[in-house]
Amino acid sequence: MAKLTFEFPDGSQRAFETPVTVVQIAQSIAVSLGKKALAGKLDEQLVDLEQPLEQGGHLQIITDQDPEALQILRATGAQLLATAVKKQFSEIKLGQLAVDEDGFYVDTDKADRQISVDELATITKKMQQMIKQNAVIERHWLSQEDALAEIGSDQYQRALLEARQQTKFLFYKINGVLTLAQTVIAPSLKALKHFKLLSVAGAYWQGKSSNPMLQRVYGTAFYQEADLQADLQQRQEAHERDHRVIGNNLDLFFVDPKVGAGLPYWMPNGATIRRTIERYITDKEVANGYQHVYTPVLANLDLYKQSGHWDHYREDMFPPMTMDDDEQLELRPMNCPSHIQIYNHHIRSYRELPLRIAELGMMHRYEKSGALSGLQRVREMTLNDGHTFVAPEQIQDEFKRILNLMVDVYHDFDIDNYTFRLSYRDPQNTEKYFDDDEMWNKAQAMLKGAMDDLGLEYVEAEGEAAFYGPKLDVQTKTALGNEETLSTIQLDFMLPERFDLKYVGEDGQEHRPVMIHRGLVSTMERFTAYLIEIYKGAFPTWLAPKQIQIIPVSEEKHGDYAHHLNEQFTALKLRSSVDQRGEKMGYLIRDAQTHKIPYTIVVGDDEKQQQTVSVRKYGEDDSRSLSVADFEKEILQDIATYSRN
Ligand code: ATP
Ligand code: ZN
Repeated sequence: MAKLTFEFPDGSQRAFETPVTVVQIAQSIAVSLGKKALAGKLDEQLVDLEQPLEQGGHLQIITDQDPEALQILRATGAQLLATAVKKQFSEIKLGQLAVDEDGFYVDTDKADRQISVDELATITKKMQQMIKQNAVIERHWLSQEDALAEIGSDQYQRALLEARQQTKFLFYKINGVLTLAQTVIAPSLKALKHFKLLSVAGAYWQGKSSNPMLQRVYGTAFYQEADLQADLQQRQEAHERDHRVIGNNLDLFFVDPKVGAGLPYWMPNGATIRRTIERYITDKEVANGYQHVYTPVLANLDLYKQSGHWDHYREDMFPPMTMDDDEQLELRPMNCPSHIQIYNHHIRSYRELPLRIAELGMMHRYEKSGALSGLQRVREMTLNDGHTFVAPEQIQDEFKRILNLMVDVYHDFDIDNYTFRLSYRDPQNTEKYFDDDEMWNKAQAMLKGAMDDLGLEYVEAEGEAAFYGPKLDVQTKTALGNEETLSTIQLDFMLPERFDLKYVGEDGQEHRPVMIHRGLVSTMERFTAYLIEIYKGAFPTWLAPKQIQIIPVSEEKHGDYAHHLNEQFTALKLRSSVDQRGEKMGYLIRDAQTHKIPYTIVVGDDEKQQQTVSVRKYGEDDSRSLSVADFEKEILQDIATYSRN
């Protein structure tokens, strides 16, 4: 018999005769450990408790005290879900079973129709029954031939099995149902008391959009009921803020995979919000010394060869279009080369620097279909982009000026939950980073110095810089808890070289400018998604698609007054309308609240006679009676100060 040697986390070693399993090893250490063991971790790989081990190595016995325990619990949830689904629909095919940060999921393919969310209750019951009975989880190791026979015509299971270089395949059998093991699960169903099936959503087989769409059933599990409840509550909160849900309820935008995944359509309400942001930011930038331009989304591919995008960024770019005359045209993934053309169109003097070029620049990036999400990650986007061209000694002042502008803009949008991250190069990694020690050290010190001068807090991240220079990122969190970059200021020493940018200095000689890339509020898409989430759809008056809803108590008696007010408000460029549906008053007022309209105005006999309005502000319980002039003053003030509801 061969002997296998295992080393344990405390450094001790033991040898065992084959065949041996993790549970046998655990029992040999202590009977109680054998009972507590959930799985093994052999050389960093989780292994099933009853897996006959073929090699020795570094072995850790995993119990419910280890961080891996939650993963194992959830994997058990996934396997039981797969079992229950197969019990419910004998003909169903199973794709991938997996555990992620939030829980677990099982991909299914029910040929005739989709599993509905309503069916999750029945599936849950089946799972609960098996847990209650503490149904035994049998482990079966099948040869490839037997495994294939067992799997039958299920092409997904077949593909999963064929992808593995093994001779024996582990199957779990619960209540007579055999399923291929895909993750390591617990020895019994005992611990799986606090779980919940959450939702069903489409997911392409192996994440490829050319593959069939399967249905992914999501669930989660915890060791404690309190943890499960806290998680469910957090999910509810995230759902209420989810920009896709709100976007649909308020009719802001839609994305229809039939006409193109990641290509959003802005409905009139969403378009109004976007137009307001675009006007705001353009005015702000122009007032701050930027010159706004328009440049084409298409350019000759050579431009992106020269900029380096074709070499370094091709994966994210749409393939070029080859025209009749063999010219290759490319949809731009970034606007920098376009603004460089603007710079280079004239001979530049030091007197023009810093030269600030800005654009609401549309760009296209071929994001992976699995990464696309509402407006948050799209394939066609419009960036609040800007490039400032400075003399090297102007970097720090310009950086401060951009930062101040950024903080000012955040203030107007009432954004306060963000952190700054200064990203440096990794000095060891000379391959990734543009090689010029002096340049890097100086530039990094300049950015740090500017942050310190302004008294702003920041974290420093080595190895996070772009390959062409250090940068400052502004990090925020989405409702779903993901960190994302909202704004960025990046120094660039490379593009000025590649495009041979120059300015004539005071000395009459040619000098090389430095380029600063900066986005204040990101893309219109991502920024709108972010705003929807932080405001929970209740946009401040200045941004709200509709600012005033006028409800006449009786269309017949007060309709004329309502329409008269509406015209007066519209003349003041307020976004107002009269609700003419003639439904019950209570319903119309509630409906205006549901649509998060900042001001609801009710007009009846009194108002008409006295030329007043009864105003109810979003989020307030009571209404106030105001003269029309006072109301106008209030709402205009509200807009002028960007005030939050
Ligand atoms: P990410 O890491 O999010 O892919 P990036 O670092 O590639 O972004 P930049 O090239 O700096 O992004 O683009 C500028 C800004 O455009 C980003 O900070 C981000 O806010 C936004 N952005 C980038 N990709 C997308 C996208 N696919 N959809 C919407 N907005 C995007
Ligand atoms: Zn740029």
